[in-house]
Amino acid sequence: MMQQYMDAKNACGDALLFFRMGDFYELFSEDAKVAAQVLGLTLTSRDKNTDNPVPMAGFPHHQCESYLGKLIRQGYRVAICEQVEDPKQAKGLVKRDITRVVTPGTLTDDALLDPRESNYLAAVTSAKKPDAKGVTWLGLAWIELSTGRFWASQIASTKLADEISRIGPSECLIDEAAPITLSGSESIMITLRPSFEFAKEDSQRVLAEHFGTASLEGFGFDDEEIHAVRAAGGVIAYLRETQRASLDHIRRIVPYRPGTSLEIDHATRRSLEITRTIRDGRREGSLLWVLDRTVTAMGSRLLADWIANPLTEIDEIDYRLDAVEEFLNDVSLSDDVRTELKGVHDMQRLLARVATGRCSPRDLSFIGKTLQSLPKLKARITARKSPYLQELEQAIDLCPDLRSQLDAALDDPCPLLAKDGGFIKSGFHEQLDQLRTLATGGKEWIAQYQAAQMEATGISNLKVGFNKVFGYYLEVTNAHKDKVPDDFIRKQTLKNAERYITPELKEYEEKVLSADDKAKELEYELFVQLRDLVQAASQRLQTTADVLSQLDVLAALADVARRQDYVRPQVVQQPELEIIDGRHPVLDATLNEGAFVPNDTIANAQQGLVLLITGPNMAGKSTYIRQVALMSLMAQIGSFVPARKAVLGIADRIFARVGASDELSKGQSTFMVEMTETARILNTATERSLVILDEIGRGTSTYDGLSLAWAIVEHMHDQLECRTLFATHYHELTELKKSLPRLKNLNVSVKEWQDDVVFLHKIVEGAADKSYGIHVAQLAGVPASVNERAKQILAHLEAESLNANGKSKKQVNIPQPRRASQLQLTLFDFADHPLLEKIRDLSLDSMSPMDALMLVKQWQETLKNEAEVRSRF
Ligand code: ADP
Ligand code: MG
Repeated sequence: MMQQYMDAKNACGDALLFFRMGDFYELFSEDAKVAAQVLGLTLTSRDKNTDNPVPMAGFPHHQCESYLGKLIRQGYRVAICEQVEDPKQAKGLVKRDITRVVTPGTLTDDALLDPRESNYLAAVTSAKKPDAKGVTWLGLAWIELSTGRFWASQIASTKLADEISRIGPSECLIDEAAPITLSGSESIMITLRPSFEFAKEDSQRVLAEHFGTASLEGFGFDDEEIHAVRAAGGVIAYLRETQRASLDHIRRIVPYRPGTSLEIDHATRRSLEITRTIRDGRREGSLLWVLDRTVTAMGSRLLADWIANPLTEIDEIDYRLDAVEEFLNDVSLSDDVRTELKGVHDMQRLLARVATGRCSPRDLSFIGKTLQSLPKLKARITARKSPYLQELEQAIDLCPDLRSQLDAALDDPCPLLAKDGGFIKSGFHEQLDQLRTLATGGKEWIAQYQAAQMEATGISNLKVGFNKVFGYYLEVTNAHKDKVPDDFIRKQTLKNAERYITPELKEYEEKVLSADDKAKELEYELFVQLRDLVQAASQRLQTTADVLSQLDVLAALADVARRQDYVRPQVVQQPELEIIDGRHPVLDATLNEGAFVPNDTIANAQQGLVLLITGPNMAGKSTYIRQVALMSLMAQIGSFVPARKAVLGIADRIFARVGASDELSKGQSTFMVEMTETARILNTATERSLVILDEIGRGTSTYDGLSLAWAIVEHMHDQLECRTLFATHYHELTELKKSLPRLKNLNVSVKEWQDDVVFLHKIVEGAADKSYGIHVAQLAGVPASVNERAKQILAHLEAESLNANGKSKKQVNIPQPRRASQLQLTLFDFADHPLLEKIRDLSLDSMSPMDALMLVKQWQETLKNEAEVRSRF
């Protein structure tokens, strides 16, 4: 047996091996140690008394799923080796085989998957060398095994990170010969695969075998897209190796061409918190979380898909918006549809399990139940105005025959195991009914037989019992031993009783037991028939499942629009923005009602495309610029938006970048990253892009940062001429207004009230008041004289250092302090004093009041010391 184990172990690579032994799964050697540690199993050993005890750990088979889940989540892969023949019939050692290898990207078990999230397996391969233009092309394919949806694409290597971020796979296969590293994707399991699996001929052959076609041209791939095909081949090869089950549910492969949907790069996706928050990486608090009011898992996954791939064609957007609007305007329609959808099961994943032969009777009954809710649903969306709803109504296939078959056959509730029977309704199959009567009717027969024997023998306490070893028997206590007739055959002696059998009893036993077995066998046959029926209809069912998920998303978008009082955006071709009373979708949903202060955003060629937003820390700058980006994205997936009015020019790309220091504290970003990302925007934004820059330039010293920010704004304004929202605490930038006609200064109004700064969060035109950093110092108790002096210095630094062309107006000229102090400033050149440089470079916005206070104290000491030194001369 250990040989059998070794063979299996050698065949499963670096996966842990669950080795089935009777009712247990066992792990040996190193695997056992890992399992003991990760799963908390007790470590024992096999062959204890030999020189070579083998570490061993195990668990009962029914716990397989939960242990499997735990190991996968911890980043292990697991191979499952089952007994593939009935031990009762085995001659010698029971045959065992690896039945599947489970990895994060190949999960199909319901219990191990989050129903509301897609689980993707991706594969990347690369061209051997760059093309004439120096572009290295990659093949990228990805699949959701639990539903069978499959895509392949060919992309430039520079796009890989963005595409991976868009897809969000849990596992990525990489051609071991391809020069690829995936940075910033710690949560993805990387699986290196041999290069030959990505070779042109091999992958074409594998795919042709799988799809039964000569080439992938029928799916819309052309000859050029060979790397896409290679990546797809690598996926199928891996699935064949790990799944060892039918992959029939993977019926198509869809070419994906980047640039056909709104492009959002990795940094933007993260920074806008589209599907996860930055701080704790959770769904809660993200845009997806606000919008996800779907009632089915299928709808939830589709919504995530829509959010990952917003549209860029006005017609397509309006097509969705019309349907959302219709749901929004008809409360009872959307209520009814949502109520029906609540009764719908996850058909996409159910159908995949049917195709792979891993479905249970309960899965079939869920498909039946889903079919039951279809007629009402279809009727409810009949004769609708919007073309999209009309199309969906048409596409719902009621599959009445299948439905009545499933209804008639399957019990409710249905068990999970097909082999144990007990799921076919009585009355469905005559022979099954007879067998069942025989199997269960046994009780009556036995009662009668017992009564008859009692009377015949006169043994008053004679009883019929059953155990696994002897089957049915008659039990007689010792007191009545002498009354036992000759035809009783003694089988077992107990302390105070004897057990007997009779030919009659055995004959009966035979019938009953085999009836039960036969019933189970027959039920299994019926189950397989039903499964095949479903499989035969699976294309129609798949289409219907897709319709259900779309209805769910549309009704959900209407629901959130109603609850949060959104407006239908007017999506237009020219790159402009006109948002009246816009709100940040997440804060709008989480703050108390009325707490969020709405703001307008107007950007167009006449009134200005570059909006420069200044204001103190915590005023609401970041919130304001993000809400514009989020609203654009929402509109382009077909959602209503949080505003009173919104005219939004289609964006081809949305970029969002945050200056380094915000993230420095989390050790994630450096100034280099900030600039690399900014460079990408400057190089790739078009006049139809929407660019959000938040405190860019902050990651370096003040003058450095200010100069960079200055030059970047100029470039956006003069060269790219695209809608740009730039939030900054560099007030100096507001001077740009004088030289850039299409720039608009905005600031967040702040009010001083009873010695306090009150943030009004209201965006108004004009440059911000500048003295809030010093105001904070004042609040912190820095002496008034110091504050006064700081204001003076600041005013001069800011007003005089740069003119509207970014040129130094004149030498910085700090006025003399009004009160001549004991410092005897006349003795040295004030403008060169080192303290001044320090004050100049101070980033007040990013200081706590306490830090400010400590710093002032330090300066004071320096100055006192200097005075002391000087007084000695
Ligand atoms: P800044 O970028 O100017 O430092 P933020 O945009 O980060 O400021 O906003 C700081 C906080 O102020 C937010 O977390 C939010 O709680 C609040 N806030 C921002 N904008 C608004 C608004 N329009 N209405 C209400 N509260 C807001
Ligand atoms: Mg900010």
